[in-house]
Amino acid sequence: QKNQLWEMRIQMMGPGQKIVHLADRSGTQAAEKMRVDFVANASHELLTPLAAVKGFIETLDDPAAGEDPATRSRFLGIMAKETDRMQALVRDLMSLSRIEAEKYDPPQTPVDFAQIVMETVDQLRNSQKDRGADIAVDITADLPAVIGDAGQLRQLANNILNNAMKYGKDGTPVLVSLVSSRSGAMLNFAVADEGDGIAPEHLPRLTERFYRVDSGRSRLVGGTGLGLSLVKHIVDRHRGHLEIRSTLGKGTTVSILLPVAPA
Ligand code: ADP
Repeated sequence: QKNQLWEMRIQMMGPGQKIVHLADRSGTQAAEKMRVDFVANASHELLTPLAAVKGFIETLDDPAAGEDPATRSRFLGIMAKETDRMQALVRDLMSLSRIEAEKYDPPQTPVDFAQIVMETVDQLRNSQKDRGADIAVDITADLPAVIGDAGQLRQLANNILNNAMKYGKDGTPVLVSLVSSRSGAMLNFAVADEGDGIAPEHLPRLTERFYRVDSGRSRLVGGTGLGLSLVKHIVDRHRGHLEIRSTLGKGTTVSILLPVAPA
């Protein structure tokens, strides 16, 4: 009977509409699968640190294990770190849902992106003094403003620069440049590192939520797996363009084009 209903519906519609209807149905299914996967991934990412914290609470609660001050302080240190991870994850999840809700509401105000990039570089220089190499900066003077959301552009600059520092090799420089595109209509923000690089098969998937090339290593360096997904959403909302180029063993360059504000 179901099939008959389908046949009737197909007959009532023109042949072109039939295809549209089927395509739309599979599109909805794909979106639903993505949503289910997302909830499963997010829950798993939160459960792992929660289980660790719970385990250490139980250990510390045991008088035999909880008495040695050195052990106590080591366990408390791990618990603090796992709590930081959960906090970072929830913060990124909140940013992601906010940016998604604003998808059809492009930003309107001029923002001094050069200033944001310089401030982000200064902050990272201060927090990562022990990296053994500097961030080299090439920013053209008097660049025009971009049309944007200052908070989101700060997050974008921070995520890209942070990745370059995390996945770059210690002792090698990170290169940051911000210049006008040839036509002058866009600003080109590029961050290059000399890290291990990314194999070509991973490149198209990097902006998927929770996608990590090497989850063991990525977890060690402290990522949430949401950084590039956030970057992609921010770039799209700003009507910009994101490109990631990488050579295994040589390094990675992330380039972002952002439309400038009308003079
Ligand atoms: P994470 O929080 O794990 O860093 P991201 O979304 O920022 O998540 O990045 C996704 C993955 O892409 C990372 O886990 C890492 O494997 C890879 N990646 C991102 N940036 C770089 C880079 N500059 N060099 C090498 N790999 C990178």
